[in-house]
Amino acid sequence: MLNRVLNEAFEKGKEKTQYGAVATYIPELGKADKNDLGVCIATQYGMCISAGQCEKRFTIQSISKIISFAVALEKLGPDKVFERVGMEPSGDAFNSLMKLEKADSTPHNPMVNAGAMVICGYLCELCTIEDMVEYARRWCLDDEIYIDEDVFASEMANLSRNRAIAYLLHSKGYITADVEKTLEFYVNMCSLSVTAKSLANLGLILACNGVDPKTNDVLLQPQTVKIVNTIMFTCGMYDGAGEFALKVGLPSKSGVGGGIISVVKGTMGIGIYGPALDVKGNSIAGIEMLQYISEKLNLHMFG
Ligand code: GLU
Repeated sequence: MLNRVLNEAFEKGKEKTQYGAVATYIPELGKADKNDLGVCIATQYGMCISAGQCEKRFTIQSISKIISFAVALEKLGPDKVFERVGMEPSGDAFNSLMKLEKADSTPHNPMVNAGAMVICGYLCELCTIEDMVEYARRWCLDDEIYIDEDVFASEMANLSRNRAIAYLLHSKGYITADVEKTLEFYVNMCSLSVTAKSLANLGLILACNGVDPKTNDVLLQPQTVKIVNTIMFTCGMYDGAGEFALKVGLPSKSGVGGGIISVVKGTMGIGIYGPALDVKGNSIAGIEMLQYISEKLNLHMFG
């Protein structure tokens, strides 16, 4: 059943890739092939089923925001984390500066760039980027995760907008760490190289309350998982989060590299790679596939 639904979803997704476009805001991401597509489901019984390119590496981009957020919650606790970042959807683009300039301008949530930079400001004084790669490897059950230096360099060479956000946040006291160090940390995290399978694995850990169901190892505290899943549900899909919540109904996070991670509480993690994006920056075929899978398997949280 699972296999059949996955294959049907893949076929539907394949038809959609032509209507999207790969990210071009940095040259390195523009090199992706918009026809690429992969979907992987990791279940609590240790099964991993997939269709398409599930072992192909791509950069995690914004999905790294959930890893940074989880590390910050574990190291600092929610009170400290939410002192400098909010928990409300923004309704604006991921890299918006618009509202930051206002008097009370706490970044909306840890999933938009401004919020993620606040988190990275905290973290870059607490751990090294090597520590973060280790967290990513452990939580994604993928020892091969590395930092894609080409994407890192491409992003660092085209950083004006993110730099503007970070300096604005620094001027207002939301970032107190060194701004350039914070930015480098943030871009390194975006450049982690993952696969659809690694995202499915991380989704499964988040689905199982932070426990790896294969080994029973506790990888994340239940409180962290609850907060991360909630923020993913409300804010994970850029300014398309509301429509996505209605149509798919699963905590999810996307990245402009074409990845999406979805969490099905108690049962499975879903990882997607599909670099053709819709106008909001979400994998166009990824959304199609998730909607199909959610409908056919009755996965909507309020369905
Ligand atoms: N590296 C990207 C940026 O900060 C991440 C964007 C994304 O995936 O939403 O601009």
